[in-house]
Formats: sequence, structure tokens, C-alpha cells
Amino acid sequence: MGYLKQIDIENFKSWRGKKVIGPFMRFNCIIGTNGSGKSNVMDALSFAMGERAASLRVKHLKDLIHGAHIGRPVLDTARVAMRYCDDDDKETIFCRSIIGESSEYRINSVHVSLAKYMEELEKVGIVTKARNCLVFQGAVESIALKDPKERTKMFECISQSKEYAAEYDQKKQALLKA
Ligand code: ATP
Ligand code: MG
Repeated sequence: MGYLKQIDIENFKSWRGKKVIGPFMRFNCIIGTNGSGKSNVMDALSFAMGERAASLRVKHLKDLIHGAHIGRPVLDTARVAMRYCDDDDKETIFCRSIIGESSEYRINSVHVSLAKYMEELEKVGIVTKARNCLVFQGAVESIALKDPKERTKMFECISQSKEYAAEYDQKKQALLKA
């Protein structure tokens, strides 16, 4: 299973100039005081995964540029690049930039359409995983209130344990027969 190695940020939300977040491990925990930017990390990831402004706690994309929240954006562009590593340690860089009112998408520095970008993300499993796994602030309660079967399904998806379910059942049956 591949993993997110690093995020490269430029003038996005609370980060001014170029910043590197990472390197990440396969499992990570982000801690910090209130207002220190924990949710902004999730926003940066969601942005790079092609989310719309409405899901990123802003009205317009350009509100995501550093300083825009106080009406003083440092530039008219911002950028978030996700470095994804596959099992063979091959790196793919998914980068989304805000250019004026719209977005530009690049894979390994090559300009691509949004459709191609999303297709490539899906291919490495990022979007499918993210849609199921990203838990935003305030969503914890809704997870706690889920039907137990639904919650189990969600955790099976996150841990990818479902992939091993058939093998597990087979081995269990074999053990029972022995
Ligand atoms: P909490 O623990 O309260 O959830 P948090 O660590 O999740 O806090 P965030 O919501 O990620 O904090 O970050 C909030 C900070 O980001 C605020 O200080 C806010 O001023 C800053 N911020 C948000 N948008 C921008 C922007 N466009 N430019 C600069 N700073 C911004
Ligand atoms: Mg937060």
C-alpha cells in the first residue's frame, strides 16, 4: 500500500511562502494548540485532492491564499503538492495551484485537466481512500452515532482489512476442520 510522503505548500492559508510538511509515516498524528493550523493541513490535503471551495471552509478559492482571510492576499496564487510514494518507492507529485479565480492541475510537473488529475488520483487509490477516511472537525460525533455495522464497514475500509476477509475466513475454516 502506498502512502503520502510529504506536502509542499506555497502561500496556502496560514503558510506564507514555501513550506514543507512531512515527511509523513504511514500513520500520523497532528497535534497543536487551537488555531495553530491542524485543520489547515486537512484543508491543504483536500485542496490537493480537488475539493471545491465550499468544502474547504471558504466561499471562493482565492480566500485560501495566505492573507486573504484579512483581505490582504500576499499574491494571487497559492499551491499545494502531495508527494505520493507507491510500494516500490516511486514518487508521484500531484499539484494543484490557484491561478486567479481558477485552478491548475499538474502531475509530476506536467499540466493536466481536472478529469485526468482525478483519474490518476483514483488509480493510486487516493481519492477513494480519502473520501472514506478524512474525518473533519465536527464529524467525530456523527461517526460515534453511526449504526455499529456502518461504523465497522468504515473502519474496515480505512484499515483495508476487508481485503483479507476472504483469506481470514478460509484459514479460520481450515483451523476449525483440523
Ligand atoms: P482548532 O484546534 O481550534 O481546531 P486548528 O489547529 O485546527 O484549531 P486551523 O483552523 O487549522 O487551526 O487554523 C486557523 C488559523 O489559520 C487561524 O489562525 C487563521 O488566522 C489562519 N488562517 C486561515 N486562513 C488563512 C489565510 N487565508 N491566510 C492566513 N492565515 C489563515
Ligand atoms: Mg481545527
